[in-house]
Amino acid sequence: MKSSGKLWVVATPIGNLADIGARAAEILGQVDLIAAEDTRHSRKLLSHLGVNTGMVALHEHNEQAQAEQLIECLADGQSVALISDAGTPLIADPGYRLVRAAVEAGIVCSPVPGPSALTAALSVAGLPTDRFQFEGFLPTKAVARDKRLAELSALPHTLIFYETPHRIEKALGSIAGQFGEDRQMAVCRELTKRFETVMHGPVGDLLAHVEADRDQRKGEFVLVVAGAPTASSPTAVSANTRDWFLALCEEMPASRAARIAARVSGEPRKAIFALKQ
Ligand code: SAM
Repeated sequence: MKSSGKLWVVATPIGNLADIGARAAEILGQVDLIAAEDTRHSRKLLSHLGVNTGMVALHEHNEQAQAEQLIECLADGQSVALISDAGTPLIADPGYRLVRAAVEAGIVCSPVPGPSALTAALSVAGLPTDRFQFEGFLPTKAVARDKRLAELSALPHTLIFYETPHRIEKALGSIAGQFGEDRQMAVCRELTKRFETVMHGPVGDLLAHVEADRDQRKGEFVLVVAGAPTASSPTAVSANTRDWFLALCEEMPASRAARIAARVSGEPRKAIFALKQ
C-alpha cells in the first residue's frame, strides 16, 4: 500500500520577502503541489524564490471542496504545502478545514513556522506577553464592535486585534469608548515594510495622532491593547516613571506631580497618582 504524503503548513513573509525562511523556501520547491489562498499573489513570492511548483487556489469560498480533493492527493502519496497571502496560514486566514480533514484522515501535518503579524506586533508592543488573547478582526458594525469590546474590557491580559486602513479610526474610537482613553496600547502599522511604524501610548493619544495624520491611516495594522488593571497589578506604571513621580512629589503636590509624570511618560495619571496612596 502506498504511504500518504505530508501536508506542510508553511508561513510566508508579512511584507518583507527577505523574511522567508530557508526551510520554507526548500519545502515550497520540493512539494508536489502548493495550495495557496491567492495563486496570483503567491506567484510573486515563488518567482522571488525561483520555485516552479504548481499551485491550486484554496480560499474561504472553495475550501471545503478543495480540501476533499487535496486529501485525495495526499492519500495518494503526494506532498502538499499550504500557504496564505501573508504570514501563518489559519491565523485569520483559510486552512482550518483542510488541516482538520487531514488530521481526521490520519495524514501527517507538519508546520514550517515563520512570520505572523500577531507575534511580530506582540514582540514590539512593550505590553505583557505572559498571557494574551488574539481576537482577529473586530466586528465591522459599530454596535457589534462596541458590544464585543465591552465584553473584553475587564480582562486582565493583553488583547490583540487585526485592523484594516478604512476602519482604523473607528476601531480606535470604539476602544477608547469602551476601555477608556487612558488604556495603554500599541498601534503596529506596516510591520517589516518601508513605512513600518509602531506607536505606544494611551489609546486617546494614539487616536488623536491617527486622526491628525492621514499617512498613519494607511496600510495594515495590528492593535495590541493592555489588559485592564487589576488589584494584583495595581499599576501599569514603569519603574522609571515611578522614580520621576516620587522625586517630583518632593517638590510639589502629588496631584500636580502625577499630571506632569503622566504627560511626559504617556502612562495613566490615575495609576501614577495611586503610587502615593
Ligand atoms: N495570516 C496572517 C498572519 O499570520 O499574520 C494574517 C492574515 S489577515 C487576513 C491580514 C491582517 O493581518 C491585516 O489586515 C493586518 O491586520 C495584519 N497584518 C498582516 N500583515 C501585516 C503587517 N505587515 N503589518 C501589520 N499588520 C499586518
